Amino acid sequence: MRLKDKLLDTGFAAWSAMRSSRKARSVSAYALVLSFIAFGAAGVAPAPDVSNLPVTLTVEELALPDLSAQLATLNPESQQFTAEERVRSGDSLGALLERLGVNDVQAANFIKSDEVAKALLRLRPGRTVRATVTSGGKLLAASTLIADNKSPVKNLSITRTDTGFVSQETEAAIERRTEMRTAEIRSSLFAATDAAQVPDAVAMQMVEIFSSDIDFGSDLRRGDYFKVIYETLWQGGEFVRSGRVLGAEFHNGSKTFQAVWYGQPDSDEGGYYDMNGKSLKKAFLKSPLEFSRVTSGFSMRLHPISGQWKQHKGIDFAAPTGTAIRAAGDGVVDFSGVQGGYGNMVVIQHGSNYSTAYAHMSHMAAGLRRGSKVKQGEVIGYVGTTGWSTGPHLHYEFRVANEARNPDSIAVPEAPALAGMDLQRFHRYVSTIAHRFVLLNTKEIQIAAR
Ligand SMILES: [Zn+2]
Repeated sequence: MRLKDKLLDTGFAAWSAMRSSRKARSVSAYALVLSFIAFGAAGVAPAPDVSNLPVTLTVEELALPDLSAQLATLNPESQQFTAEERVRSGDSLGALLERLGVNDVQAANFIKSDEVAKALLRLRPGRTVRATVTSGGKLLAASTLIADNKSPVKNLSITRTDTGFVSQETEAAIERRTEMRTAEIRSSLFAATDAAQVPDAVAMQMVEIFSSDIDFGSDLRRGDYFKVIYETLWQGGEFVRSGRVLGAEFHNGSKTFQAVWYGQPDSDEGGYYDMNGKSLKKAFLKSPLEFSRVTSGFSMRLHPISGQWKQHKGIDFAAPTGTAIRAAGDGVVDFSGVQGGYGNMVVIQHGSNYSTAYAHMSHMAAGLRRGSKVKQGEVIGYVGTTGWSTGPHLHYEFRVANEARNPDSIAVPEAPALAGMDLQRFHRYVSTIAHRFVLLNTKEIQIAAR
């Protein structure tokens, strides 16, 4: 690419026009052809180091008939160029390689069969792949970033050797930036996060963070708003993916919830706390239904009619059949099977005092049986309408000492708050997040101005 850069620096109008081309390959290939024509005409031996070539070349001096004769003497395998392409939605490996100028069965077979190189087949649209290719279409080298939402970001490279190809994965040098967004909810949470260009992975983290306090399926009100501060990961000016939510504030009706990520130094361990150092993690989720882009706008809580609580003894959540049901808290499965009017039901025991029941399921999660240990948020089954049920919904019971109770009226035990040195460190750290929340206060200014 150095040749290309030099050419660009010469400032020819023609080159600046080519610069707008997305295909770096065509620029370099063209540059090479020009170079060889010029040097051929001057009687210089072919195959010089392209990076050292002078760049004051003009096309006009060359007679066209010489072109094909000159090109015919060039060995296509001795010429190489660098290409760069973005993965498109619905791309196949074949289509991607073709755009990169690769016509190489051996390379394609290696990518499909090599355990490391296979990752190329799972790239997301938008990801850039760079390749060094001969004029004859042989792949010499390829590289890209591998970045799913959980694992560290890695560089994947494939290199041609004398005998075939080798693949290598190395940790990528990543630059972290902090993004801040705020938006008001007018129709749905996802409409608001989309409008504010908050990635889905960040929106879902926010839902998770406040899931003990807010039932996103039914508690959201028009005019609610959020502020979110999160990391984004970049490499060489290219957006790689979003990272962790560092802080979030959610205004739900008259209530405001704040969360700050606080971790142990040099470790990935940590959790979300309010501004006073109290853990946001509670023993039970507010809603056992999984909230997603698909179910948002569908699921809602059917509040038991006043006075009917004693007869009904539970909360009904309307949701489409198949919506995932999650364990409200850590526990052990006490029952999984059919039980009369409850239909397919799971009961989870949480410690000695609490249990939760989930009824009318279409089916239970695979492998779930009496004695299975479950974690809070783990999927235990799916919404259905088995038993005495008139339509797909989840009947959820929260039981204290085996008696169904209204979970909203029960004070459940909470995780211990930060204390001592930890709390002091937390307070120093939290002030930077609090400052950022203030920076996002334009939202309040907008609302006040109405
Ligand atoms: Zn019910």
